[in-house]
Amino acid sequence: MSAPRRNIMWFRRDLRIGDNPALMAAIASSDEIIPVFILDPKLVKQSGSKRLAYLGQSLRALDESLNNSLHVMVGDQVEVLQELKTRYSATEVHISAEYEPYGKARDERIEKSGVELTRTGSPYAVAPGRVLKPSDATPYRVYTPFYRAWCVHGWRAPAATPKKINTVAPSASDRNFPDWPMPEGVNVTAAGEAAALARWKVFQSGALDNYDEARNMAGIDGTSKLSAHLKWGEIHPRTLLVNLGESKAHDTFRKEIAWREFYADVLFNNPHTENDYYAPRFRDMRYDKPGEKLKAWQTGKTGYPFVDAAMRQLVREGWMHNRTRMVVASFLVKDLHLEWQHGADYFMEHLVDFDVASNAHGWQWTAGCGTDASPYYRVFNPIEQGKRFDENGDYIRKYVPELAHLSANEIHEPWLYLDGYSKGYCERIVDHAVERIESLARLQEIKEEKPELPR
Ligand SMILES: Cc1cc2nc3c(=O)[nH]c(=O)nc-3n(C[C@H](O)[C@H](O)[C@H](O)COP(=O)(O)OP(=O)(O)OC[C@H]3O[C@@H](n4cnc5c(N)ncnc54)[C@H](O)[C@@H]3O)c2cc1C
Repeated sequence: MSAPRRNIMWFRRDLRIGDNPALMAAIASSDEIIPVFILDPKLVKQSGSKRLAYLGQSLRALDESLNNSLHVMVGDQVEVLQELKTRYSATEVHISAEYEPYGKARDERIEKSGVELTRTGSPYAVAPGRVLKPSDATPYRVYTPFYRAWCVHGWRAPAATPKKINTVAPSASDRNFPDWPMPEGVNVTAAGEAAALARWKVFQSGALDNYDEARNMAGIDGTSKLSAHLKWGEIHPRTLLVNLGESKAHDTFRKEIAWREFYADVLFNNPHTENDYYAPRFRDMRYDKPGEKLKAWQTGKTGYPFVDAAMRQLVREGWMHNRTRMVVASFLVKDLHLEWQHGADYFMEHLVDFDVASNAHGWQWTAGCGTDASPYYRVFNPIEQGKRFDENGDYIRKYVPELAHLSANEIHEPWLYLDGYSKGYCERIVDHAVERIESLARLQEIKEEKPELPR
């Protein structure tokens, strides 16, 4: 009998069995696979406790789908892969391609060290770099034309789910599952492929058909809450897209999936914008130094109820509603005059769904230095936003108990009411009306045309 042909399946941001083309490719050219996840010290270091705990749970779920054969390894990726290849006489190493700066560079380094990687599929419906302007084959810089071209490009149907996966049995020393506990009092969505598919099912039979109307309402369960599942690849966007129809609600949902793909594309084409300004002139804007105001923002004590509710939701759930992500981001940059990177770093620490492209560009879009095509400089009014998108104050009441005694009319402006501060809520750290004008003045400074130097 000849020796079994073996391939390594290296899981990274694709912690699922279904609709996983890289896994299918690994299975197709082998008799047995070696499923492996390698803990990356750099990524571990930059992740907060909530994201790590979620990852730990997701690895357990993946392991269960693989009949407890997942190798969870610690160490340099090249050394780990080479050791596994030798030990199991494995031929190929299969991966889903990475496009963001760190993952892409890591994979290139591994290949330079002599470990060949076989790429099949990516975490996107359309891989970054593929959607180009027909006129000059350059990347899009504006979302709406990107979206149209992305639809025209189209995407594959979901890949099949393997009927049977033959795996090698790991030894005890290959089973380095991290023991990262979820911090006490934190309430994060359940991890894993089964949880992702269950959530998708619930969303499809409920909020999806009203998504266009409900997606902005912070206090209701009107969005899919699939972002952490998408981040870790517990579900693929193709699986979502294939079930969408042509109604307004479905179309709006497709457009949101496309925002994720657009930002991945923008970062792929402009890797420096992970930390640096997409619109370089904003580097020259006058910003304040981070200090007490940043701390107040981080801890949900700015005195603006809608902002504070959102920041407390972030810490408590590792997730924040998209509407309030925009509101708190605008507040940090335009009311507190701090650089967007301070906020993005804090989000990186706390978000379970942290995605380098969506985060950096969600921040830059809101800060005004990103891909926003609007001719206006948006300064979100934190009071009006609250009144509009949390009309009854339920969202605020849920996260800011010091305001729970106030009625829908009172809760957005506690400073106007006698008992607004009676339960210990903090006073406003800045006056939005004043800071809005200040922000526009600072914008004007970088807008001013500089006189041309005499030749
Ligand atoms: C300042 C800021 C930072 C952000 N940081 C992240 C981040 O680190 N990770 C992340 O996944 N999203 C980020 N977003 C985008 C968005 O807020 C979240 O994707 C969304 O709130 C997740 O909730 P959901 O799954 O219920 O979304 P749904 O409304 O159900 O949307 C479905 C999916 O579409 C994608 N999507 C929706 N809106 C956006 C958007 N504006 N940009 C990119 N993708 C989108 C997400 O993958 C989301 O899961 C950020 C937005 C802002 C304004």
